[in-house]
Amino acid sequence: MIDNFLDPILSLAYPRACRACGGAVESLSFGPACGTCWNSTRVFNGRESCCSKCGQLIPTGKFDLSSRCSGCVEDFYDRAAAAADYHLAARAAVLALKEEPFLSKRVRGLLTGRFDTAGFHAATLIIPVPLSKRRRIERGFNQAELLARALEVHTGIRSSADVLERTAHFAMHRAGMDRKAREGSVKKAFEVKKPKLVREERILLVDDVFTTGSTASACAKTLKASGAAEVNVLTLARTPHFI
Ligand SMILES: [Zn+2]
Ligand SMILES: [Zn+2]
Repeated sequence: MIDNFLDPILSLAYPRACRACGGAVESLSFGPACGTCWNSTRVFNGRESCCSKCGQLIPTGKFDLSSRCSGCVEDFYDRAAAAADYHLAARAAVLALKEEPFLSKRVRGLLTGRFDTAGFHAATLIIPVPLSKRRRIERGFNQAELLARALEVHTGIRSSADVLERTAHFAMHRAGMDRKAREGSVKKAFEVKKPKLVREERILLVDDVFTTGSTASACAKTLKASGAAEVNVLTLARTPHFI
């Protein structure tokens, strides 16, 4: 109600440029991108021809419902889903979220809508992918925590940001790093601080963007080593990751 009332007034007072195309953002509820860019952004609804584990798009000719890509075979999470392709408005939203701890109505709706279509309702605990302490202090907030809290409000499923800790920060997809090297670099990057809280839980891990899956896999491995029954992953966006 308050949102609806303030929105047109605030957008008149603070016109913003779309981070994707530079045009005007028509409504504050759109967040960092304009309506045209939102309309051109590929949003996933779960009916795409995707790898049933990691969500990687699979060419329709090769697709059946049990299709799996070859890239995620060794990953430790059970299933990953993203709300949109990392381009246009979704990319703008991810970048803006690293600067400002604010989730627009459109971004919130994108995430919660994908939660619903991905069928993650059986989750018992939502955990945001943590930043290292140093990075969190530098940024002042963890964008994944904001996403986790939005999901908690939408679903009523508890979220907890102090269960999992990032002990070191590595660039997960550093150019020139092959899969093995990346895995080595994230091996000891996460630690479960409260193992009692994850035992037997069906965890939904939340992050802003899914790139290679190394981060999600490292978190899932650590959580499962502490007794988590299941670890699924939900992100706002995913980068195309060719098989
Ligand atoms: Zn735009
Ligand atoms: Zn896959």
